[in-house]
Amino acid sequence: MDRNDPLDQSVASLGGIGKQTANKLEKLGIRTCQDLIFHLPHRYEDRTRIQAIGAIKPGMTALIKGKVELTDTLLRGRKSLICRIGDGTGFINLRFFHFSAAQLTQLSPGTYISCFAEVRHGYAGLEMIHPDYKILSNPEQSITEDTLTPVYPLTEGLSQSLLRKAIKQALNLHLKNLTDWLPESLLQRFNYPTLIQAINFLHAPSSEQMTAETLLQNDNPARKRLAFEELLSHHLSLRVVREQAREQLAPPFSIDETTRRHFLKSLPFQLTGAQQRVIAEIEADCSRQQPMLRLVQGDVGSGKTVVSAYAALLALAAGYQVAVMAPTELLAEQHFRNFTAWFDRFQTQIIFLTGQIKGNTRKTTLETLEDGSAGIVIGTHALFQESVTFKKLGLIVIDEQHRFGVHQRMALRDKGRNAGIRPHQLVMTATPIPRTLAMLQYSDLDISIIDELPPGRKPIVTSVIPSERREEVIARIGHWVAQKRQAYWVCTLIEESEALQCEAAEKTAELLTQVLPDIRIALVHGRMKAADKDAVMQDFKNHQIDLLVATTVIEVGVDVPNAGLMIIENPERLGLSQLHQLRGRVGRGKDDSYCLLLYQSPLSDTARHRLGILRDSNDGFVIAEKDLELRGPGEVMGTRQTGQMQFKIADLDRDTDLLDNIPTIAESLLHHSTDAVQPLIKRWLGETVNYAEV
Ligand code: ADP
Ligand code: MG
Repeated sequence: MDRNDPLDQSVASLGGIGKQTANKLEKLGIRTCQDLIFHLPHRYEDRTRIQAIGAIKPGMTALIKGKVELTDTLLRGRKSLICRIGDGTGFINLRFFHFSAAQLTQLSPGTYISCFAEVRHGYAGLEMIHPDYKILSNPEQSITEDTLTPVYPLTEGLSQSLLRKAIKQALNLHLKNLTDWLPESLLQRFNYPTLIQAINFLHAPSSEQMTAETLLQNDNPARKRLAFEELLSHHLSLRVVREQAREQLAPPFSIDETTRRHFLKSLPFQLTGAQQRVIAEIEADCSRQQPMLRLVQGDVGSGKTVVSAYAALLALAAGYQVAVMAPTELLAEQHFRNFTAWFDRFQTQIIFLTGQIKGNTRKTTLETLEDGSAGIVIGTHALFQESVTFKKLGLIVIDEQHRFGVHQRMALRDKGRNAGIRPHQLVMTATPIPRTLAMLQYSDLDISIIDELPPGRKPIVTSVIPSERREEVIARIGHWVAQKRQAYWVCTLIEESEALQCEAAEKTAELLTQVLPDIRIALVHGRMKAADKDAVMQDFKNHQIDLLVATTVIEVGVDVPNAGLMIIENPERLGLSQLHQLRGRVGRGKDDSYCLLLYQSPLSDTARHRLGILRDSNDGFVIAEKDLELRGPGEVMGTRQTGQMQFKIADLDRDTDLLDNIPTIAESLLHHSTDAVQPLIKRWLGETVNYAEV
């Protein structure tokens, strides 16, 4: 914080704000006067004109003025104070459930009053519940406001009027000190107002320009301009992280031809062209003295794991340790098995670490990392707990990136810091991020794409089937298993309720066991112990189980090539990208594979359309783009995917069109207006983000 900058003055410097209020404001992320100025309304009220009572309708929010005709307390039902107001055009009742004796006298008949509230249907005509009201000294007293009244996001114990006053003060004192960092030429090009005009307008818009209802929905230039500036600032913050990371030192890796050949020969397959290309990109990154920050995107089954194993080889050959982090235990275990097989011919100790590993085993595991005897550790986010220290960490691999936020990613980078040396970082995701969104989420990373599947894969044949044909589907499993093939049955429920999901899977497994008595059926779900889950998966892999009933825990990474049939129950409940990920569990071998989407009828038109997209395409990128079109970026990115990304005014669904221009403008600011960068980040992302330590 710069104490000399008036905008950085604490909110406590303003009149009427004591320590307590300052603490409450802090809960809203407001510490300085600038924070107050950028605390923007989320809606408006229109108190610019008085409505005739005879003309108002339920649902409207209206300002009225009238004379108290009658005031009474009702004891029937919930005790309440009723006050009848008339203005010559009609009558309305005010209703208070909490009231004082003083209010009763204050609202005596004959008093003039103004009220503002939403109008609704009451027992006896129109009514307003707990309106904002003012007693008037005479009927002529002016009650209207010149501009729309801003309504700000609040926190407990903070009143709208206190916040309004504080913001007004901050604006009066400091608005003039705001620097407009957007270049003049840009404002002209997009027809944007200046920063001061935009801020002024949004805190106090005149009702001629806009109505309270439409102001935040339309293409109002003041709002657009600020949304643009905010998105730009988010993008800039990632770019700064990236540039700062590039200034760090990392260990350069290189390997000799023999080691390389040795490794490639120990693989049970030949790398695809796309894998080779991405490996070359990784190798070039790691040969430098700056940390690699690379995201590998590749559809499910495109073979990302082996690419990360090759990166691990580079680190090992240079004498460095590798940490591989997966989002689930199941997936970590699978990576552990793959790595163990692929590095079989190398003298490398590979260890496994999750939260489940406790006591002495944990202790010895941690020791092998600390003394450097373990070369590779594979695990879940338990890997990045404080107790875990590395002797010489040279590479971090994060699988299925979309589950981790930007800030978590940065924390991890910090983890491997050792004597000024940072590890290289490789991030892998199967969720294709459309270009525009990648810009807000991954601008700190370089992107490689594996756009080719291993040879011999046939497209998965997907059908959309109503639940009325369930018996037919079950019979099909019978025939399938008779041909020595295996299958998945996936039970889905709304994600929040894992318990219900497990219960549904248990019931389904029971039912299927009854109707398919000759088939070996097992169950795997998120509430099982890791060891039990592992045992079931291992049996399935060894073909000791024919049909695996599962919850969406198998979404990521599980690999059993002989399992070529998947039934997904209630697919209409999941997003397209998630369904595509699930479906990616089949189609991993050379034989035909099928996915049956067993929906609950009736299906809405949109749901039918969405499932149709999945039926017609096997391309994760195409599906992600369509998903984006149908659901909008806000939904697709979700909170899980955006980490802590929160906007003050921008809305990804509404402001997608703004994103296109951001990279070029960011580029030009980074090169020609360096002064603008940090202040913009501070203005929009606040002081909480500390990039200095990245
Ligand atoms: P994902 O990209 O979804 O993580 P995986 O790394 O799990 O994919 O690979 C999917 C399957 O394909 C695994 O069984 C893996 O061993 C196999 N695989 C990877 N690369 C190739 C290749 N070039 N040729 C044949 N099979 C491959
Ligand atoms: Mg994978």
